[in-house]
Amino acid sequence: MEFDVVVVGAGPAGSMAAKYAAKNGARTLLIEEHAVIGSPVSCTGHISVKALKECELPEGNFINKRIRGAFVYAPDNRSIPIDGKRTMTYVVERKIMDREMAKAATKAGADVWLDTAVRSVKKVPGGVVLEAVSDGKKTEIPARVVIGADGVKSRIAKSVGLGHIPHVCTGIQVEADYEPRDEEFVEIFLGHYYVPKYFAWAVPTSGECCRIGLNADSDAHVYLDRLLSEHEVVSKKARGAVDLIMGGIPVGTLKSTVTDGVLIVGDAAGHVKPVSYGGIYMGTRCAKIAGEVAAKAALEGDVRAARLREYERRWRGEFGNELMFGLKFRQIFGRMTDEDLNEAIAALDDPDILNMITQYGDIDRPSVLARQFLGLSTRERVWRFVKLFARVFI
Ligand SMILES: Cc1cc2nc3c(=O)[nH]c(=O)nc-3n(C[C@H](O)[C@H](O)[C@H](O)COP(=O)(O)OP(=O)(O)OC[C@H]3O[C@@H](n4cnc5c(N)ncnc54)[C@H](O)[C@@H]3O)c2cc1C
Repeated sequence: MEFDVVVVGAGPAGSMAAKYAAKNGARTLLIEEHAVIGSPVSCTGHISVKALKECELPEGNFINKRIRGAFVYAPDNRSIPIDGKRTMTYVVERKIMDREMAKAATKAGADVWLDTAVRSVKKVPGGVVLEAVSDGKKTEIPARVVIGADGVKSRIAKSVGLGHIPHVCTGIQVEADYEPRDEEFVEIFLGHYYVPKYFAWAVPTSGECCRIGLNADSDAHVYLDRLLSEHEVVSKKARGAVDLIMGGIPVGTLKSTVTDGVLIVGDAAGHVKPVSYGGIYMGTRCAKIAGEVAAKAALEGDVRAARLREYERRWRGEFGNELMFGLKFRQIFGRMTDEDLNEAIAALDDPDILNMITQYGDIDRPSVLARQFLGLSTRERVWRFVKLFARVFI
């Protein structure tokens, strides 16, 4: 076999998996169906400092902005500032970042084939055969292990019977002229009329431009139009929308991300935080484990599911509890009325609580803050917040 590990999809998860497979000694191929890496891309590019570190890229020209915090607007338009007082997140240009990550995979030793779309995967003794169309011609690519990093609609997962993500919501966004309240802060908007069960955002990119978007279970276009034309804060500032993008965002994971000769990672597996709906941090972390386990198993000559399950055990060990917390939070948040949300924001508007959020807030691991919060539950305002959550949950 020419390749030990073939990775399908050159997004952040695929490039990182390919890098780690190559670093661990496997002959590695990274396949991308588009002729250009990083395009088209559906992403705001808002990632934490920790997520960028996980991507293993030096700070470069793909960073648009450094962000310190957020203004969170309740449905009644009362807002609270959450100020991290140092760079907490970055706004990145995914098109450039994805290319840098693919380059890092090639530097580690992986080959890259562009304009190659995988149609299906067949299991064969000791490995798999990928059926693909490359440069317009049908081709077969034998490998010991395939890593499916082919995004939320993953053909690889379906092709080998690993099924579907339990729920997929839609993310929609425009880039528009919009003077941010502060260039170092993102703006978050809550309220059922504009964004039922989710939140909307305005994320500064450069100059007086922002990426403005939201998530929705249906009618995403309708809600975005409404936000841009009617919202008290947004409609006054948003002008000249360009670059409309839209994409599926997984909520929940595949039941299993492993079968004989196959691992699934990134959006394809559902490696997305169900609180902020970002997938880059978890996807790249899990991709490192996938690349390493795939390489080791391929080189040992045992690619059966029992051997590859090390990957599933390790990523669930790292993220299982956080995912469970996120799904529970999502359920409670989804049930909150506008009055509940107004009450919650009012309860958080307290210097000590905001300080605690500054100290413990982590968009990649929100459960850390929740634990701190519960520890303070004797304080009257926190108590109000906890009671509100309990009422909504019950
Ligand atoms: C509107 C919107 C905003 C978002 N904003 C953020 C954000 O601010 N921060 C954040 O962390 N996340 C954000 N996300 C989520 C983030 O974009 C994804 O989690 C991330 O891109 C997942 O990376 P991935 O490598 O798993 O998959 P993808 O980036 O989807 O990459 C999959 C790759 O596989 C290729 N591919 C697919 N099928 C095949 C095939 N059959 N053969 C070959 N190649 C194939 C695709 O062309 C693609 O390049 C956002 C999503 C949306 C929709």
